[in-house]
Amino acid sequence: MLLRHLARVLAELAWAGLGAAGGWVLGRALGGPGVGTAVGVATVLATRAVLRARQGERLLAWLREPAGPAPTARTDAHLAELAYRTERLLAQRNAALATERQQLAQLLGAIEASPNGVLLLDAQDRIDWCSAVAADHLGLNAERDRLQAITALVRDPAFVEHLQRGAWHEPVHLGLAGRAGSTLAVLVRPYGAERKLVLTQDITERMRSDAMRRDFVANVSHEIRSPLTVLSGFVETMAHVPLTEAERTRVLGLMQQQTDRMQALVADLLTLAQLEGSPRPPTGRWVDAAALTQAAEVQALGLSRQRHQVQVAPPVGLQLAGSEAELQSALNNLVVNAVRYTPEGGRIGVAWQRGDDGSARVTVSDTGIGIAPEHLPRLAERFYRVDGSRSRDTGGTGLGLAIVKHAVQRHGGELLVHSEPGAGSAFTLVLPAARVRLAIAGGTAG
Ligand code: ADP
Repeated sequence: MLLRHLARVLAELAWAGLGAAGGWVLGRALGGPGVGTAVGVATVLATRAVLRARQGERLLAWLREPAGPAPTARTDAHLAELAYRTERLLAQRNAALATERQQLAQLLGAIEASPNGVLLLDAQDRIDWCSAVAADHLGLNAERDRLQAITALVRDPAFVEHLQRGAWHEPVHLGLAGRAGSTLAVLVRPYGAERKLVLTQDITERMRSDAMRRDFVANVSHEIRSPLTVLSGFVETMAHVPLTEAERTRVLGLMQQQTDRMQALVADLLTLAQLEGSPRPPTGRWVDAAALTQAAEVQALGLSRQRHQVQVAPPVGLQLAGSEAELQSALNNLVVNAVRYTPEGGRIGVAWQRGDDGSARVTVSDTGIGIAPEHLPRLAERFYRVDGSRSRDTGGTGLGLAIVKHAVQRHGGELLVHSEPGAGSAFTLVLPAARVRLAIAGGTAG
C-alpha cells in the first residue's frame, strides 16, 4: 500500500514536472521567462484537473457497474485510495453474501432432507417457499406454484377452514394428494409479520398401526370374554343348582374346554409377542429339517387319531439355519390346521423340495375344505377366520397363520398358500438359500 502510494506521488510529480517543463518552454518562447513560469504552473494545474476528472469519471462508471477490478487512479492518491477502499469493501460484502448464501443453501438442504414437508406462506396466504416433500404431500409444484394462494391449490374444505379459523393448536388431517386411504397431518404455526409456517407429515402408517392395535385389543378382549362368560355361567350353575354326578362331570368337561381355549389363546399371544419383540434368529445355528418334520408328524397323528391318512417325507440331511422353536412352531401350526380343516378320511401330506436357487420349501397339503380365493390375502392376519365357529369348535385361536407368517419372515422366507374350496389346500414355507444346507455330501433334500 505504502509503495503504491509512493509510486502514485512520484507519478504525479513526474506529470507535474513534465507539464511545468512543457508550459515553461512554451511560455518562454512566447513571452520570456516570466510568462514561461506562469504558463508552466497553469499547465501543471490544468493537466492535474483534467487527469483527476477523467479518473473520477472512470471510477464513477465502475461504481455504477462494478465488473472487474476497480480502475487505478495513477496520478491521484485520494482517488486511488477511494477506489481501493471501495473495492475492498465490495469484496468483503461479496464474501459475506457468499457465506450467507451457502448457509441458506445448507439450511434449505437440511429442510429438504426431512421426511416432513415445510411450506412458508406470506401474509396473504401465498406460497413463499415450499419443500419438495410438502409439494408432494399437497400435490403442488414447488417452482410453478410460488406466490399462488395456497387455498386456490389445496382446496380440501377441512384445510381451508383450518387455515382461516386461526386456532392452530391441533393439526388437521387430510388425504395425501392422489393417494386414496392415506392420511396427512398438517400443522400451521404463525411467525413473523402475519406469516405462516405449514408443516406436513405423512401419518398413514401410524394411523394404520393405531387402528390395528385397537382392533387387536378389541379382538383379544372378545376372545377372552367369550370363554369367561361361559365359565362364569357354569360356576353360577354349580353354585346354585344341585347336579347329578353325570351332570357335574359334563359341566366340568365343558369348563375344562373353555380354560383350554383361554390357555391356547394366551400361549399363542405370548408366542406372537415374543416373535415381534426378539431379534432375528441367528444364521449360525443349524436345525435338522427331518427332526422338525418328524415332530410335526407326531403332532398330526396325535390330533388326527387315525381319522386321516398322514404321509410325511422327512428330508435327508437337510439343515436350516435359525430358531428351532420358531421353525417347529410354524410347521406344527400348518400341520394342525391341515388336520382341523380336513374331514375324516382325507389325506394330509408334508413334503420338502430344494429350489434351483438353493432355497428349500416345505409344503403341508390336505384334501380338506379349502379356502375361497377372496379370503387368501387376509388369511395370515391376526384373528382372521374364514369360519369363526368352525375355527373355535376345533380349538383354533385365529393366530396360527399369523405366527407361521411371522416366524418364516423372520428367517428371510415367505408363506405361500394355494387352495381350492372343496378340494384342499397347500401351505408352503419357503426358506432362502442362505439359511439352507445339506449336511451330508451327495445327499438330496427331499
Ligand atoms: P385358526 O386358529 O382359526 O385356525 P389360523 O390363523 O391358523 O387360525 O387360520 C386362519 C384361518 O384360515 C382359519 O380360521 C381357517 O378358516 C383358515 N385355514 C387355515 N388353514 C386351513 C386349511 N388347512 N384348510 C382350510 N382352511 C384353513
